[in-house]
Amino acid sequence: MSDTPIRRRASAAVRVGGVTIGGDAPIAVQSMTNTDTADVTATVAQVFALARAGSELVRVTVNTPEAARAVSEIRDKLRVGGCNVPLVGDFHYNGHRLLTAYPECAEALSKYRINPGNVGFGQKRDSQFATLIEVALEYKRPVRIGVNWGSLDSVLLTRLMDDNAKSPQPRTALEVTRHALVVSALQSARRAEELGLPHDRIVLSCKVSGVQDLIAVYRDLAARCDYPLHLGLTEAGMGSKGIVASTAAMSVLLQEGIGDTVRVSLTPEPGGDRTQEVMVAQQILQTMGLRAFTPLVTACPGCGRTTSTVFQELAGHIQAYLQAKIPVWREAHVGVESMSVAVMGCVVNGPGESKHANVGISLPGTGEQPVAPVFVDGKKVATLRGEGIAEAFEQIVEEYVVTTYARRC
Ligand code: SF4
Repeated sequence: MSDTPIRRRASAAVRVGGVTIGGDAPIAVQSMTNTDTADVTATVAQVFALARAGSELVRVTVNTPEAARAVSEIRDKLRVGGCNVPLVGDFHYNGHRLLTAYPECAEALSKYRINPGNVGFGQKRDSQFATLIEVALEYKRPVRIGVNWGSLDSVLLTRLMDDNAKSPQPRTALEVTRHALVVSALQSARRAEELGLPHDRIVLSCKVSGVQDLIAVYRDLAARCDYPLHLGLTEAGMGSKGIVASTAAMSVLLQEGIGDTVRVSLTPEPGGDRTQEVMVAQQILQTMGLRAFTPLVTACPGCGRTTSTVFQELAGHIQAYLQAKIPVWREAHVGVESMSVAVMGCVVNGPGESKHANVGISLPGTGEQPVAPVFVDGKKVATLRGEGIAEAFEQIVEEYVVTTYARRC
């Protein structure tokens, strides 16, 4: 964990199933399925995968009667399989109808996500919002008021734009739009409280797709309330673009103590692995020193000093071993997720970086003697040479795990 702890913004603690969001709770990792919720088998399989990857809450779309009917069966099948991850229902347009028509759905969900821009239009808007809150009250469920740039309340935005136009010092349209997101979230939260929803059953989010917009909006939102905040860049995109944009935006805010739960909204490649978004969220939190999920491997990238295949083969071998063993260790040993392992390529940075890790190996670069010093908690414990360097190093790591981290009961 970080040597200079980040001071988290004070926020109310909201219970969502067995998970706490906000307060002193660790920043929670969330994800969302992309299966048709009405397809129970596919959705159960994906929720299982997301939860196994470390998602502490999983959101599912509830958009049709078929989806609403499926939710309780999904929850039951997960429980039978030993998975108690809280399910969050994502509602737009017809949530008031679905939650009242399908009480078993309302009961099976641990939280309802309400988008104030999509609750309803005109006269119906207030009553439909009230219905959603009444259901939350009846089932004692928290809600996330999740405002989104792409579905911002157009009536509110028009009014704020008109007010701004009359101002002696008008702000830019972008500034007004950012402000409208925050106002929409706070007004909806206040309305929910007026309807009787306790303060500590509300989580807020204001998702946008631009990095600077997200930072500006969340700074503003964080300064104006103590509701826990769900953080995420919406429509972050595919591949490295989505990962980099989410990391850039969220890191700035997390460093300022803003954010109580995170989701990385990646667009998977066709047939890609949905759990990638969980892994990226965990890596953001872990590399910032906010949480520990899995032992970190510091691997040297290699350079002109590692042109021989010796380094590449050894590094690949050791990393494959660590990846295979980490889930086993995590199950068996308390605290092993905070372990660091260094696999370095040559004498330039190898010994130094290896000393900083719990267990580190400095592999021989091109032209160096074929020996590999190994360090444990900063002390050199062995010099490996010849055939079997990788296996001998793996044995040292295994012993370190067994002797350092207590076995789970
Ligand atoms: S540790 Fe050595 S091999 Fe690795 S990047 Fe640095 S100089 Fe290159």
